[in-house]
Amino acid sequence: MKYEWIEEFLLKKAGVTRDIQEEWNWIRFHIGGKMFAAICRDDDTNEPVYITLKLEPVEGEFFRKEYEDIIPGYYMNKVHWNSVKADGNVPDEVLKDLLDKAYQVVFDSLSKKQRRQIIEDANLDNPLSACGADCSQCGLFGNGCQGCNASRGMGSHASEGKECKTYLCCRAKNCYVNCGECDQLPCKLIYATKDPGVSDEEFNEYLEGAINRLKCDKTSQGKK
Ligand code: SF4
Ligand code: SF4
Repeated sequence: MKYEWIEEFLLKKAGVTRDIQEEWNWIRFHIGGKMFAAICRDDDTNEPVYITLKLEPVEGEFFRKEYEDIIPGYYMNKVHWNSVKADGNVPDEVLKDLLDKAYQVVFDSLSKKQRRQIIEDANLDNPLSACGADCSQCGLFGNGCQGCNASRGMGSHASEGKECKTYLCCRAKNCYVNCGECDQLPCKLIYATKDPGVSDEEFNEYLEGAINRLKCDKTSQGKK
């Protein structure tokens, strides 16, 4: 198969699990217990024949028209599933985009509770907080505070016994990995975190750095 990178690419996404469906000889990829993609292998050679993935029906139709190597889902519901020929001519970047979309379609179908859990579990070791604070640079990190992600929003920033409001908005309300995904960044909640002892200039400088970290983030275990 041309697309040797697939497994590594998919297993990097937050919460993805893999199993083998012996009867069909498929390697399946799930999020929250639901399949979003599979590598369908030939029974005799064990070589991949198709990469099957879920898309919104309109998108599936669009990509099938665009690429002759994308066909209706092999042995799957033809409305929601699509199969990319493993030795076809679909460019790597297009297939990566389709796999991102497939993950997102199924991720979005999960309950808020499941989505939050997946994002939180995948980011426990990540020093970049949901709002862009770099906990690894904070004097309290490992010194009374475990950091935003490890404490699930209950770090020293948050009010005693409560999750930080920004964290709750980002992770619980919107199910984002971090505020970098949000159109409202920087929002009122983020401005409300300004310490009264810090000048506007200093805060704006901090904010610029935080937004930069969020936009360029490579450390979060995200959906992409
Ligand atoms: S107080 Fe805790 S959560 Fe806040 S920046 Fe410092 S280490 Fe992170
Ligand atoms: S509104 Fe957006 S930027 Fe503000 S805390 Fe919520 S997710 Fe973050």
